[in-house]
Amino acid sequence: MTNRILIVEDEKDLSRTLEYSLTKDGYDTLCAATGEEGVEMACRQPVPDLVILDLMLPDISGLEVCRRIRGHPPTHDISILILTAKGEEIDRVVGFEVGADDYVVKPFSIRELKLRIEAILRRRNSETPGEKMLEKRGVLPLNRTTQSIQVGGEEISLTSLEFRILDALVTNPGQFMSRDTLLKRVWGEKSDVRSRTVDVHVNRLREKLGSANQLIETRRNVGYRYNPPKTDFSG
Ligand code: CA
Repeated sequence: MTNRILIVEDEKDLSRTLEYSLTKDGYDTLCAATGEEGVEMACRQPVPDLVILDLMLPDISGLEVCRRIRGHPPTHDISILILTAKGEEIDRVVGFEVGADDYVVKPFSIRELKLRIEAILRRRNSETPGEKMLEKRGVLPLNRTTQSIQVGGEEISLTSLEFRILDALVTNPGQFMSRDTLLKRVWGEKSDVRSRTVDVHVNRLREKLGSANQLIETRRNVGYRYNPPKTDFSG
């Protein structure tokens, strides 16, 4: 399956270089030079697997583009790799409010960017088996295809990062997992995402879980663990 990558970048030279290089590597590429155009192209079928998103765009900011992609069901699961300039607020960027998967600071080498892209797509592709599969781990049903869980009969959809965090925790019920371990599991060995990032995503995940948030226990300076529910949340 050819992965489709949307490049949202207003610097023409960079955009062309990326397009050329990624196309040569066998990716299906699309380019947008403004944020609005980026959002619009992200919605076109088939939706891209990944968006390379520059933060500083001439119209709306990359963060806004990211928010819109995440907020729109057909595109909410697209992987997002952000390009930032030094000095931009990395912590905000990585997503927290907006849920980007990773970021690269300019100037970067194409090789580094490609490694990041490969890592994101590898995670992504290994998570999407062709058939719908409803998994029951403990009694918390994780649906890999829609990246959602059922809580009290209600389907809660998660970002791919949130899903991977939950998946990692649920795989080791009752055991505390340190932020570093979660970082490696979820973001990969090479990521330079900081451990605070883990906290932010776990907190968001807990918020989404609502009444079932006690399933994820936080212990200061230790990490997080999944406590299998005593009652059945699957409704
Ligand atoms: Ca720019």
